[in-house]
This record gives sequence, structure tokens and C-alpha cells, in this order.
Amino acid sequence: MLRLLCVTSHPDDEAGAFGGVLARYSEGGVECSVICLTAGERAANRGGADGDDALKSMRRAEFADSCRHLGVARYGVLNYADGALVRADFGEVTGKLVEDIRKLRPHVVVTFGAEGFVTGHPDHGMTGMFTSMAFQWAARATCCPEQLSCGLETWQAKKLYYVTAEFTIPDRPMVSLPPVTARVHVEPYIRRKIEAFACHTSQRILRGLRLSYIAAHPAAVVRRRAEEGRRRRALSPCRHGRGHADEDGERSVRGSKRIS
Ligand SMILES: [Zn+2]
Repeated sequence: MLRLLCVTSHPDDEAGAFGGVLARYSEGGVECSVICLTAGERAANRGGADGDDALKSMRRAEFADSCRHLGVARYGVLNYADGALVRADFGEVTGKLVEDIRKLRPHVVVTFGAEGFVTGHPDHGMTGMFTSMAFQWAARATCCPEQLSCGLETWQAKKLYYVTAEFTIPDRPMVSLPPVTARVHVEPYIRRKIEAFACHTSQRILRGLRLSYIAAHPAAVVRRRAEEGRRRRALSPCRHGRGHADEDGERSVRGSKRIS
């Protein structure tokens, strides 16, 4: 069975940034996992919560509902400080993700790029940095060796993708988005993506904004970091003589190239 790991920053990222991909591949038999680094306790939208701890609990529950709606098999929210990932211990966070990669053994990892996606949120950018390093370190016996002495084995995921887009949001920080190297056709899954986002009732005020962008840009666009150059199916088995990697036929979907 193919496995996909998505690493995010805040509850609702899994729906707003990756929901179409998660719904599509979960339905297609790929075992999808989501790790969210913070519980989103610093959100401007408080959902009536009485304090940060109450909002954490609320958002963890919303995240679980959203993941279940998307068909995600495994999911969890870590407890790093929302809005402060730039000050988190790089080795510690990366080591935790290395452990998760060694346990989950994903073939494909998806996350944010260093620019922080269309919002330019620093937490998103740092999540991409931690995950990028963990993608590399998980395969090296010299990295986090204490995990190996506890029974885990090294694991080299095959591909690392950063989510990207062909639009920017006015009045947000300037971002240099990764170029598109692969497209995942998610139009049949837009309803589930919207429904998953609606699980985040504490962030209801954001829903109208998200819907307008989802409607305008229905294709989930991801950039493949690994194996630069050729366009391939995002989740095709590949390399080391196991399976194959199909060329992107560059077929047109409403004016867009796609793979799969
Ligand atoms: Zn976020």
C-alpha cells in the first residue's frame, strides 16, 4: 500500500491547503497521515473559547473531524507553540518528524514551502523547513541514532512536494511561490474539501474567504521537490526498480496541465 504523509502548521491547513489531495488519495486507497505541529491557540478567531487551552481543545477536535471527513487514516496535533515555530528548537522538531517518518514510512511527503504558501505565514515556512530536513535525515543512520537503537529503521521517502498556487492574496506578505511541477486533479473532491474546512467551526469567519479562492482555483497544485526535471504522477511507485514513474501526458484540464 502506498502511504502519504502531510505535515501542516495549524488545524484547518489540512483542509484549506491539502484537503483535495488528501480526499483524493485516501479514496484511492493510499494510506494518508497528517501531522499538525501546533494546536492553533493564537488564532484571531477564538470561536467563543475561554482562553488558549480551551481553544486548543476545540481546534484539536475540529482537526480530528476534518481528517475523518477527508478519509485520513492517521492524524495528530503536536503541541508546539502557535505563531512561534521560528523560535522552536530546530533539531528537536525535526527529530520528532524524523521519528514519525520512520514509524509511518511514507512514500510521498507533502508540506509547505519555505515561503509559507499564499499567506506567507512564518509557521508554514518553518513547517516546510523542518519537514524538508526530516525527509533527508530519516534516511541517515547518523541522524537521530537513538531512534534506531529503539527498534526503528531508517526510511527514505521517495518524493517531497511543496504546495503552491498560481495566485497570491492581496495585503498578505510578498511570497515567492514554488513553480508548478505537478498537478493533482481534485475537482471531484472540492465538496469534501469545503465540508472538511467547515468542520473548523471556530474559524467559520475564514470560510467565505477560502471558498472564494477554492472556487477560483479548483486544482490543487503541488511542487515536487525531489527528482527535479521530469513530470511524473505524484504517487506512482518509483526508483530502485520498484514500479514505474509515468510521464505526465500534459493533458489539459480546464486550461491546466495535470498529472493523474
Ligand atoms: Zn496555517
